[in-house]
Amino acid sequence: MRFAQRIQKLQPYLFVEISRKIAEKRARGEDVITFAIGDPDLPTPPHILQRLWQASQNPANHRYPESEGLPTFRRAIAQWYEGRFGVKLDPNKEVLPLIGAKEGIGHVALCFIDPGDIALVPDPGYPVYAVGTMFAGGEPYVLPLLEENHWLPDLDAIPPQVARDARVLWLNYPNNPTGAVAGLDFFERVVAFAKRYDVAVLHDAPYSEVAYDGYRPASFLQAPGAKEVGMEFHSLSKSYNMTGWRVGMAVGNADMVNALMRVKSNLDSGIPQAIQEAAIEALTGPQDCIQEHNAIYQRRRDRLVAALTRLGLRCVPPRASLYVWARAPQGYTSAQFATMLLEEKSIVVTPGSGYGQHGEGYIRLSLTLSDADLERGLARLEGWKIPPRQ
Ligand SMILES: *Cc1c(COP(=O)(O)O)cnc(C)c1O
Repeated sequence: MRFAQRIQKLQPYLFVEISRKIAEKRARGEDVITFAIGDPDLPTPPHILQRLWQASQNPANHRYPESEGLPTFRRAIAQWYEGRFGVKLDPNKEVLPLIGAKEGIGHVALCFIDPGDIALVPDPGYPVYAVGTMFAGGEPYVLPLLEENHWLPDLDAIPPQVARDARVLWLNYPNNPTGAVAGLDFFERVVAFAKRYDVAVLHDAPYSEVAYDGYRPASFLQAPGAKEVGMEFHSLSKSYNMTGWRVGMAVGNADMVNALMRVKSNLDSGIPQAIQEAAIEALTGPQDCIQEHNAIYQRRRDRLVAALTRLGLRCVPPRASLYVWARAPQGYTSAQFATMLLEEKSIVVTPGSGYGQHGEGYIRLSLTLSDADLERGLARLEGWKIPPRQ
């Protein structure tokens, strides 16, 4: 059997070794607490589930959905964008429902990337931007996200030749894994860059609703001219605890939306309609759940940041996203420190190097574990002296 090169090029799963150790510990009956999973622990709000159940009873929803999604869902998305961001969208041309944002993020490379083409990809970053590029035969060009630049890419540092050759620029704010946020001023500079070099902007924004201390993240589409150059990926996963239902959307430039629709209509047959109805309920129904969830995450964030700071691990409380991004102690690589935490404390964190070379030296801790697990985990860290390494 001969597999394609793209299969061989896939990185071996970074966490094999850590996963093996977790499995061993659990088999011995040890209580392993994980801060590694970015998946809300809280359930989908009941009014959304109620609508899903009702919609599942309708035989019209038992049949193939349309690739472009229910018109009512596209309208609900457009209304939500206008209400939340003041961004007007044409529901028939500028909105495309997705089987979760990840699906669209993976497939959109097929719209822009021919073999040998360049995609500008942030590092550290969500791995799908680079993998989708590679699947389409393209080459990711790494944009380092550095603490000294507040985890924003330095667009002026991109060599002009690379910028001219690049087809797309990937961005993600509020950011996974760093928890960084971007303001409209940055998005305005992105629009200018995209126009200057004729690069399509792909902004991944699943955490726009997960924010703290009253902060409200901006949409890329709020920047003047953004719709001429870009598209935004969004998701109901993190805002409404709906990761398991697989529903998201791409919105923005009509030609870009249309290209993605054409690719998708050849690959999938859309989102189950009952789930689209549940998503309509999420976007148009009561929104109190968002504040309630954020209050819970914010309390967990404060507990976690205080505990990490007491340990001497430097971290800034994130204003948005589900992650605390902390500096690993002096002398440890990300993976060494993650291994040490697992072996000594049965606590799982994600090594920053799993998100790219520029994530080295950091660890990511997620806020999506139960309060009880969080407290048990923090109690284990209380008074811990991290053993020095060389
Ligand atoms: C969770 C996540 C997604 C995936 O969202 P789905 O809609 O569940 O596919 C995309 N991008 C980033 C950065 C994420 O953290």
